[in-house]
Formats: sequence, C-alpha cells, structure tokens
Amino acid sequence: MKVIDHIRQANKPLISFEILPPLKGKTINSIFDHLDPLMEFKPSFINVTYHRSEHVFKKKADGTFDKVEVRKRPGTVGICAAIMNHYKVDAVPHLICGGFNKRETEDALIDLNFIGVDNVLVLRGDAAKNETVFEPEPGGNRYALDLMKQVVNLNNGIYLEEDIRDGFRTKFCIGVAGYPEKHFEAPNLQSDLDWLKAKVEAGAEYVVTQMFFDNQKYFDFVKRCREAGIEIPIIPGLKPITNKKQLSVIPRTFHVDIPTELSNEILKAKTDGDVEQVGSEWLLQQSKELKAANVPVLHYYTLGKPKVIYNAVKELV
Ligand code: FAD
Repeated sequence: MKVIDHIRQANKPLISFEILPPLKGKTINSIFDHLDPLMEFKPSFINVTYHRSEHVFKKKADGTFDKVEVRKRPGTVGICAAIMNHYKVDAVPHLICGGFNKRETEDALIDLNFIGVDNVLVLRGDAAKNETVFEPEPGGNRYALDLMKQVVNLNNGIYLEEDIRDGFRTKFCIGVAGYPEKHFEAPNLQSDLDWLKAKVEAGAEYVVTQMFFDNQKYFDFVKRCREAGIEIPIIPGLKPITNKKQLSVIPRTFHVDIPTELSNEILKAKTDGDVEQVGSEWLLQQSKELKAANVPVLHYYTLGKPKVIYNAVKELV
C-alpha cells in the first residue's frame, strides 16, 4: 500500500522506522533481530536506505595499493522483499542518484515493481567519500528532482528506450527529503524551499524531514512550506542521541543543531547507559509534542539503536 494512502486512512499519527542494510557479510537475520522488537508498535511502513559504492585502497603483497570499488551495504531491494514477506508490512526503499546511471536506476525500479513495492523515497545522495562535491555518475541523475522525473516517467509508461513510450505503468508513491534547518549546500532557506516546491510540483506526495532535536525547527519549517504552497504531508524524522561522540558527529554529518539543554544533559551523563537514558527521554518528549500536534507519522531513524527507540515509543503508545 502507498504511504500516502496509509496517511489518508489514519486518524492518529502513524509510526514508521528506517533501517540500514547490514554490512556485507552479515545475514538478513541481523535485520530481523533489529526489527523484531519494534514490530510490536505496528509500523505502517519501514524505510530501507540505499548506499553507493566507495573507493577503498587495498594493500597488496608487494606493499603497493590497489584502488577498488566496494559497496559496503548492498541489498536494499532484497531487504525490502524480505521485510514485506516476513512481516507483511510495506517497505519503502530509498533510491539515490549518486553512483548509479539511469539504466541501473530503471532496472532497480523494475525489480521493485515486480516484487510488489509501491513506494520510493527519492534522494540525491551525498558526495562519494573521495569527492568534495557531489558528482553524478556518467549518464546518471544530478538532483533528486531529475530522479523523480525518471520515476514519474515510469509511472506514465515511459521507459528509457525510445520505443517504449506506452509500457507498463508503475504506480510508485514518491516521497522526498526536506530540511527544517536547510540543506547544507543551499545558499539560503528560501532557495532550498523553492527546490522542495519544484519536487512537489513534479509529483512528490509527501516529505520526510532530516532529523532535528528542537521541534520548533520542524513547526517553523512546516509553516514556511504551507506559506509557499506546499500542501503535502511533512513527516518528521527523529533520531535519539546515544553516545557523547554524536554531539560533534551529528552536526558535522547532518548539519543540524543540538539544543544547549540536550548537549548539557549529555555532557553531565556519567555512563553510556546514562547517555542513552537522556537521549531516550529527549526523544520521548519530542515524540509526545509532535503527536499532540497531530503530525502524519512519527518516523524513527533506528541506525543500530532499536532499544533506545523501543523504550521511547513504548512510553508513547
Ligand atoms: P536534492 O533535492 O537534489 O537537493 C540537493 C541540493 O541541491 C539542495 O541544496 C537543494 O536546495 C539543491 N537543489 C535541488 N534541486 C536543484 C536543482 N534542480 N538545481 C539546483 N539546485 C537544486 N543518502 C543516501 O545516500 N542514502 C539514503 O538512503 C539516504 N536517505 C535519506 C533519507 C532522508 C529522510 C534524508 C533527509 C536524507 C537521506 N540521505 C540519504 C541523504 C541525502 O542524500 C543528502 O542529504 C543529499 O545531500 C541531498 O539529498 P536530496 O534528495 O535532498 O537532494
């Protein structure tokens, strides 16, 4: 079922989770172990992130290095099939521009359609680890907007081959990312909002936000979107802080602020368990306020910490 239909049919905020594919070499059971406890909350859908390959240097016997391409977290399409089969819940694969040309993307979309996936979250992806700025793959999409147009074309039966202009019409419900604190490359909030609006006009049916730790940032973002004529559901993305290192890693990686009150509490915590307790409590308070504001969905980035999320959601529902 489409995410947008889940939202339309709901009379209270839904719950959803995002997971990462396991590192290459691990089994699908690591995903099930991660999700099993969270299924108690009957999530409406589960997002599965997509990861491009990276260049790594492998040392050879003679002391020189070989540059090889490695995809550390493959398997997004297969994991979606496994989740839908195992839990009978909708899976939402992320689809990225980076590292893929349009033909590979089209093949992935055809696979997703054949396994019964109704949704995609369309993203640009970040620059490869060896690049300072994002560069599309030769023959690939540059912006999420371009990738969206490719998905919309497939929904209209238009494939890359010029002789398939009236092929099978897929029915993907398309979500896109939004940034309450601005995407780090955007020159200003207005320009970022203008591009978000372009994604909506091109066919996006809902937005999922980057994580934020101050709900006011989300409420302000929703207000700005509404004033700009963006009417689609805006799903808040939530993540708990679970260790002290994240106080610098999260702002550096995701370009979001951590409120003083939260960072002070984390710094005061004596053990790792205390930090998790503070992170879980903060997540619970954020969730309660967002639930009271009747957001469409509470979307949790689990990122290897399902227990902290479990504790907060258990208190919430
Ligand atoms: P875009 O919408 O393409 O925007 C990128 C930048 O360009 C912005 O600054 C925007 O203002 C600007 N812009 C947009 N369109 C245009 C245009 N046509 N012309 C000029 N400027 C434009 N990354 C992964 O690799 N895998 C994942 O699974 C993944 N999941 C994510 C899930 C969520 C909910 C979020 C919020 C992010 C996720 N990311 C993931 C990270 C994401 O790929 C990065 O944040 C990336 O830098 C931007 O992606 P985007 O889709 O927002 O890009």
